[in-house]
Amino acid sequence: MVMTPDEYAVHGQNCPVCRSPLIEGERVDVDGTTAWGKVACNACKSTWTDVFDLVGYDELIVAGTPCAANVKQQ
Ligand SMILES: [Zn+2]
Repeated sequence: MVMTPDEYAVHGQNCPVCRSPLIEGERVDVDGTTAWGKVACNACKSTWTDVFDLVGYDELIVAGTPCAANVKQQ
């Protein structure tokens, strides 16, 4: 059964159709807080578009000085 987009977002880098890890992404285009990248599965020849949402930033450096407020909360 084909993964839903939500299931795919949890599973990550496996084909949503055949679950193969043999997938190849092309370059990602960013527009504001969303990004898209074409992906193809080498196992079952399916193609789809990965959709990315901006979730924040990390490793901020202000004028050459790392910013303490930016340390990731684990
Ligand atoms: Zn596949």
